[in-house]
Amino acid sequence: MKKYILTLDEGTTSARAIIFDECGNVVSIAQNEFTQIYPRPSYVEHDPIEILSAQYSAITECIIKSGLKTSDISCVGITNQRETVVVWNRLTGEPVYNAIVWQCRRTAELCEELKSQGLEEYIINTTGLKIDAYFSGTKIKWILDNVEGAREAANRGELLFGTIDTWLMWKLSNGKIHSTDQTNASRTMLYDIHNLCWDKKLLEILDIPESMLPTVQKSGSVYGDIDIMGANLSVCGVAGDQQSALFGQRCVNVGDVKNTYGTGCFLLMNTGTTAVKSNNGLLTTIAATTENSPCEYALEGSVFIGGAVIQWLRDEMKLIENAAQSEELAIAVSDSAGVYIVPAFAGLGAPYWDMYARGTICGLTRGAGRNHIVRAALESIAYQTNDLITAMQNDAGVCVTSLKADGGASKNRFLMQFQADISNADVICPKNAEATALGAALLAGLTAGVIENTDSLNADATTFTPAMNDDIRQSSLDGWRSAVKSTISFSKE
Ligand code: ADP
Repeated sequence: MKKYILTLDEGTTSARAIIFDECGNVVSIAQNEFTQIYPRPSYVEHDPIEILSAQYSAITECIIKSGLKTSDISCVGITNQRETVVVWNRLTGEPVYNAIVWQCRRTAELCEELKSQGLEEYIINTTGLKIDAYFSGTKIKWILDNVEGAREAANRGELLFGTIDTWLMWKLSNGKIHSTDQTNASRTMLYDIHNLCWDKKLLEILDIPESMLPTVQKSGSVYGDIDIMGANLSVCGVAGDQQSALFGQRCVNVGDVKNTYGTGCFLLMNTGTTAVKSNNGLLTTIAATTENSPCEYALEGSVFIGGAVIQWLRDEMKLIENAAQSEELAIAVSDSAGVYIVPAFAGLGAPYWDMYARGTICGLTRGAGRNHIVRAALESIAYQTNDLITAMQNDAGVCVTSLKADGGASKNRFLMQFQADISNADVICPKNAEATALGAALLAGLTAGVIENTDSLNADATTFTPAMNDDIRQSSLDGWRSAVKSTISFSKE
């Protein structure tokens, strides 16, 4: 009986392979890091061939470690860093340029131009996205405009574009699959999320030939076979990392929310079949679904500096030796003694959107010490997350009573409890921390019929319930709002 699911979890810094059984348990994991290339300040690239080989050797190591044969594997799921662009020649299979990574800001000026052409409203209405260098569209244009011969080759129909899922499938199928899924497509700034097709007007504006673009499928659907160690394995699930985590956390009903507490935080709320347009600067994106269900949407917001504030305490302030120690110091004091840290190191995102804001520490008194500062740093992660939750509640008109958590900083019990307290919502941390990979595995497993129901998944979870009284919550939130206000007005001086 083939009952195992192989998942490719291709992230920003490493490629991992994970084998799950039909109950969603992890059987085996392997991981390889790859090089981050910084050719100029604010430019970020990856070598697509290195990603492929890092991914492939993680797959073989994972299979060998598991003791399974490829014939035990029923299907493959893929989840990937979103928005990152690869352009390659379909005749030679060679990339024409390095992958331009989502973090890369090289097209910021081009984005300003698009704004000055008055395209903001059109782009948000069509793609659900704000005009930003993050998204794939302007990166593809950059390659066509800057790599010698690229535009001519693209016009001859010789070049293909893909996000990393597409690139891996094309290579591993020997050029037979040129597809992506709706969640990845919805991050390109080229995809009409309402009519579910590439948008011809945007392709024209950015001068991108449609012949380069992959076919878009449902996240849970059959993409075709890839060759793994001489065996043909069927790819049955693909989703961008954040939507995959939303699915893996089983946030499949309207109002379900997950937050990934990593370097930054990514909060997504399932809004069902309604594409909710945000009044607070959040993004509207497609959620992962399987073949027979209708298209669903999510609201997405991100905290730029999440776990990174803890890295800052460790590396720059030298207040802690490691991230885990932050918990010990935070619980050594009963509160933050009125200290607030607003870690706007790279500006403030939703709902404030102030790119010029810079970090502040407010409310210092003579008695404020190291433990208070550490505690205030952890609290800032929860306050920023709470701002996003509030914005989503307002946009979607639903009340959030629980939140699923994952990512490195979700191991911090103080942070999880403070989040529950300040958001007045249960915070649920599943024992299986692999929510992102699990999402792709479930999409594949449900499509291939290896997984029939998902009821028992994530049953083993720790729930943090709110324990703060309303007055303290209100005064704490008031303090945070004043701190944010001071931060914004300071940067305006
Ligand atoms: P990413 O995928 O963004 O690299 P991870 O999910 O691996 O991030 O999480 C790493 C982040 O989590 C780091 O910023 C680190 O400071 C933070 N972190 C890890 N463990 C803890 C902890 N116990 N308490 C607080 N923050 C933590």
